[in-house]
Amino acid sequence: MFDPSQPGTDECVWRAALDAAPSWQPASGRLLIVSPHPDDEVLGAGGLIRQWTDAARPVTVLSVTDGEAAYPDWCGLDRVRRSELRQALSTLCTAPLINVGLSIPDGRVSEQTEVLRAALAALCDADTTLIAPYEDDGHPDHEAAGRVCRQFARSQGIAIARYPIWAWHHSTPATMPVQWGRFALPPQARSAKLAAARCFGSQLHPARRAPIVPPHVLAYFARPYEAFVL
Ligand SMILES: [Zn+2]
Repeated sequence: MFDPSQPGTDECVWRAALDAAPSWQPASGRLLIVSPHPDDEVLGAGGLIRQWTDAARPVTVLSVTDGEAAYPDWCGLDRVRRSELRQALSTLCTAPLINVGLSIPDGRVSEQTEVLRAALAALCDADTTLIAPYEDDGHPDHEAAGRVCRQFARSQGIAIARYPIWAWHHSTPATMPVQWGRFALPPQARSAKLAAARCFGSQLHPARRAPIVPPHVLAYFARPYEAFVL
């Protein structure tokens, strides 16, 4: 398991590899953003969510867990993180979106893949693009959710793109030879994404605890584009 307090791959290394990646955007139907923990949806795809809602296109965010295992000794962290998510989504978007929560226990997504699969089946239609966590992201919940999404998309013929979170930190362009697609963010989408990311105070600057998302990790999510694995 990686340690987010350690420096990780420098953002300059990623920019050098990704700046020239081909541009990509989903087809014009619904987006279903699958988020293992509150903050993954904003960090991984916040700019895309903002652009889609600005264009009056439908967006659903599926929150798989409430993220309570980030600090196991923090009683009530699930409530704190749900509240941060509500604040972040209303900061991110001026138009409404749908947020569905599954409240699967944090850290145990691999034990409840049928619950996630049933939610995907209920929320997807043929025109949906699934925006899923990357299946080799290095966090067990991200990987379990990513695998379920990928299998579901394949079996149903649904379009899918995957967003890394922790792979930016522990992988490099050389160790991650995937097909990238770059979704450009205009200035207002980028600044809305960063403002939304700052709503997750429990992850950025918790009292008396080491942050899960320190500044050198947040730097991966301040690019003028979002890069997806296609
Ligand atoms: Zn996560």
